[in-house]
Amino acid sequence: MTQLSIETNRLQEAIDINRIQRRLDDLWEIGRTSAGGVSRLAYSETENEAHEYLRKELPAEYDVRIDSVGNMFATRWPDASQTILTGSHLDSVHNAGRLDGTLGTVISLEAIEAYNAVVDEPCCPPTLAVFRAEESARFGYHTIGSRSALSELDAQTLSATDEKGIPVWQAMNDAGFYPGDLSEPTIDIDATMGFLEVHIEQGRLLDEKATNVGVVSSIRAPVRYRVCVEGNFDHSGATPMDLRKDALAAASEMICEIEAVATANTVDGDIVATVGDLTAVNGAINTVCGTVEFPLDIRSTDSAFRAEVEREILAELEAIANRRGVTVTSELIDESEPVALSKTVQTQLIESAEAAESTYQTLPSGGGHDAMNFQLAGIPTGLLFVPSIDGISHNPDERTPEEAINEATRTLVYALNRVSNSYGNN
Ligand SMILES: [Zn+2]
Repeated sequence: MTQLSIETNRLQEAIDINRIQRRLDDLWEIGRTSAGGVSRLAYSETENEAHEYLRKELPAEYDVRIDSVGNMFATRWPDASQTILTGSHLDSVHNAGRLDGTLGTVISLEAIEAYNAVVDEPCCPPTLAVFRAEESARFGYHTIGSRSALSELDAQTLSATDEKGIPVWQAMNDAGFYPGDLSEPTIDIDATMGFLEVHIEQGRLLDEKATNVGVVSSIRAPVRYRVCVEGNFDHSGATPMDLRKDALAAASEMICEIEAVATANTVDGDIVATVGDLTAVNGAINTVCGTVEFPLDIRSTDSAFRAEVEREILAELEAIANRRGVTVTSELIDESEPVALSKTVQTQLIESAEAAESTYQTLPSGGGHDAMNFQLAGIPTGLLFVPSIDGISHNPDERTPEEAINEATRTLVYALNRVSNSYGNN
């Protein structure tokens, strides 16, 4: 039997916002820092403890499966032939905020419970999915858990080390997990009809428009360069202005031009470009600096458009270097593909936000998430954002309004039902 509609009042009674807040408070204590944040690095004691905590919060009748890398899957319907996964991650960066993926995980559990309370026999019941090691803070590689689940983890990532020289596989072993054949997924991909992730936005679009739910259209991906500008090292007092080849002045002009080119291109498509660091090699107050390095990060949801802007930026850097008599080299260090999320699921999420009487907007995601791996594996995937006040992310000051948490939970329940119903009768 399919149950097509959910009665809003009954649903609201089933959602316990205090339970969500209590779980968030409890999880905050696991790895809490003196600065009021939380540190739960991938495969650390604290990540283990957070998974253990959540497991104890599950109703006794849940079937819980921990896969070979420590991802947790929990459901009331272990024998169902199909399922929809919903969840996020509990690990964090150093001194992170208390929300990030933790809020998404806690909302997913609450939504599953509320769904169970209002829908009797779902066609395609939900499974809570909690992934390991989403953040790259410890090993320099992101979404290790979800990539393992989908057989997308490579040997290079498994042997990457943390700052103490501990490789990923060793950290997994220390936490009690022994990954088997990397080419085997740890979930039944064919039986996974969808993945719905909830996460804080990590930007300020929702907060600025006072919207409570964001439906993500696509996930931006970066192309990254290490740029080196070389001129001449000279004495600042002895070298007349017209004889200088000042690498730092040239780099400054380049950085402003990068900003100008990206800004001008926002009229034609999705683009952001950032220089987030600058090194004046052997720079000093009495020196005209001869060598400067800076990283360049260009992101878009559209790789062809990103390539156009990338070419324009690199050409401008050359032009500035030529005019100033310095040289510029741009070394490509990373290039990833943007991921467009399922249009079908986006529509289902929008309909769900409307049914849940939530304010919503569609937006791109600036950062990577477990969701992108599921979409790349061909599983219809949706990503719901809740606002982070002032766009704060990876910082102890992360906060989300309670009403947004409530509306996102309601929206997720409707979405679980919509996706489930779209797979017909069992
Ligand atoms: Zn996250």
